[in-house]
Amino acid sequence: MDLSTGMQKMAVEQQPAGRGAACLTCKGICSGFQPHSWRKACVQCRCSRDGHAPSSDGEDDRKMGRLLADSRYAHLTARVKGGDGLRVYKRNRMIITNPVVSRKDPTFNTITYDWAPPGLAQKLAMLYMELLPEAQRPVSGTEGALYRRRLLLRQLPVYDHDPAQGHALSEPEAQAMALFVQGYKQEVGVGEVALPGGAGPKEEGANQKNGRSSQEPQEPRPTANGTLGDCGKKSQYHCERCGGPAAEDGPVVYAERAGYERLWHPTCFVCAECGEALVDLVYFWKDGALLCGRHYCQREKPRCNGCDELIFTEDYKQGADGLAWHKDHYCCWECGRSLSTPCSCGSRSRPV
Ligand SMILES: [Zn+2]
Ligand SMILES: [Zn+2]
Ligand SMILES: [Zn+2]
Ligand SMILES: [Zn+2]
Ligand SMILES: [Zn+2]
Ligand SMILES: [Zn+2]
Repeated sequence: MDLSTGMQKMAVEQQPAGRGAACLTCKGICSGFQPHSWRKACVQCRCSRDGHAPSSDGEDDRKMGRLLADSRYAHLTARVKGGDGLRVYKRNRMIITNPVVSRKDPTFNTITYDWAPPGLAQKLAMLYMELLPEAQRPVSGTEGALYRRRLLLRQLPVYDHDPAQGHALSEPEAQAMALFVQGYKQEVGVGEVALPGGAGPKEEGANQKNGRSSQEPQEPRPTANGTLGDCGKKSQYHCERCGGPAAEDGPVVYAERAGYERLWHPTCFVCAECGEALVDLVYFWKDGALLCGRHYCQREKPRCNGCDELIFTEDYKQGADGLAWHKDHYCCWECGRSLSTPCSCGSRSRPV
């Protein structure tokens, strides 16, 4: 991976990210993302930032690098050459080359995955991908790759952990945020893909791996889906979310923070709050639930319904509907007047 080009690009990309990106829902209304001064939304169509096409891979990788750099997953990041200690995400791309068997000219079919679970043999990584619905496989240039990058924007917004990306904070707010970010980076986890019984603490050597015994399946057979099928043998492993059996020869996901006695089917490794797949297996484990970054943060702090940033002051507006707002963000899109004195703009519907 060439980290130096990422550095050069970064100097250029100091303006709000994603300007001009096409809206994924509005056809004809929006000619490209134009950021509102403080809402994380487009002034043309009012859709959110993550409702527009993602910006660049490089930008995503820098954001993720920031998040993981001070966490215990720093090994998933790499130092940027000449970047003053800056680290970027070492995203694990996977390139599969399959010979196309035909009687005449043998050709090759190359598939690039924008992301694959790190640290796996390719065969296991492929089994993992096959368990995901096609629309969620991050194959370069497909819907699945777009889905992944939208999840990144949605689940791990950079302003949740980088104060420089949000609106100006007061000194007490900045202190509260610094403390929060410290905790956030301590809590972040990255799931591990393995065969059932095949994950566990690595540093301590091969001691006492959960559920592992001499009766391991001798001949792992590849299977098209993660179920037992008519294999007949009862699995001792069950998925934490759906309770269904996990085939001993099908990859599952482990979450270190939840303990290695728990495992998930790849499609069951989702946020308990939004139900979305946990992007790049980044998860939080809170009160016995798996959460994405966005929903972990919202259990800790209220999120402003206006600007989408977390609120680090006690002095905020709680709407009747339970939604939270920074006081000065509790206002109308059209006229900017406070929402507590209803304006006539409300009757006009959003141009969507
Ligand atoms: Zn739109
Ligand atoms: Zn737009
Ligand atoms: Zn399951
Ligand atoms: Zn979520
Ligand atoms: Zn706000
Ligand atoms: Zn108004």
